[in-house]
Amino acid sequence: MATGISETESGQQSGTSAPRGLISLRALRKIYIMGDQEVRALDGVDLDIQKGEFVAIMGPSGSGKSTLMNLIGCLDTPTSGSFLLNGQEVSTMDENQLADLRNREIGFVFQTFNLLPRTSALQNVELPLVYAGISRQERRKRAHETLERVQLEDRATHAPSELSGGQRQRVAVARALVNNPSLLLADEPTGNLDSKTSLDIMGLFSELHQAGNTIILVTHEPDIAAYATRTIKLLDGRIVSDIGNSPGGEGATGASPS
Ligand code: ADP
Ligand code: MG
Repeated sequence: MATGISETESGQQSGTSAPRGLISLRALRKIYIMGDQEVRALDGVDLDIQKGEFVAIMGPSGSGKSTLMNLIGCLDTPTSGSFLLNGQEVSTMDENQLADLRNREIGFVFQTFNLLPRTSALQNVELPLVYAGISRQERRKRAHETLERVQLEDRATHAPSELSGGQRQRVAVARALVNNPSLLLADEPTGNLDSKTSLDIMGLFSELHQAGNTIILVTHEPDIAAYATRTIKLLDGRIVSDIGNSPGGEGATGASPS
């Protein structure tokens, strides 16, 4: 199923010869109509992301970062353009197909954690498996294992209100991972955390990246982006720069965005 390299020529060629990876966007546009105004939230984005990359997306407020994440996360469809995820054209899918793809392929982490409040860490992590129709026993087992991966096994029975911000975000990361998604998307995951806890969470993302996960993360902060291996900058709905961060960077080591 998930072969790294796709050799299929789908006939959906758009001129470039670069190999297509996990994500392939071509001339992607998202236009909102607000009264008599047209907002070009994304204005012709071409982008390829390979399996195993750790990409930071930066750009000023309103530049289209969340819109891009929502499209890549199959939460929304573009106004025009092509989006291949694992070789499948997503831009023309209906709601049900999108929901299905999302449940199988995507794990989300949000700035505000988005955990169910009066529900234990364990049950929060189990939730995607409920949607996936996994048996109760198997759900328990996998949720426990995933909490272990984020070093929160000892807090499994705690509700979010009994956890620190960093611990809540670890629960959210576990929830995003429990389905073994192809792609982990994080929209400003450290935006509500103090700087020490932010570095802690970025350490976790680095570990997940080293374990082979593909991660796309939105951030305003260069020192957070430095954990990624590639930084893409958006301005007015377009990519204005796309650079590889210095290699060998475990976390921020030696990465000097300039
Ligand atoms: P960012 O995440 O970089 O701050 P967004 O992707 O949220 O930017 O927004 C990009 C642009 O699209 C902004 O001008 C924003 O006001 C507009 N926008 C985003 N979502 C909507 C929407 N649902 N309806 C209308 N305009 C929107
Ligand atoms: Mg945003």
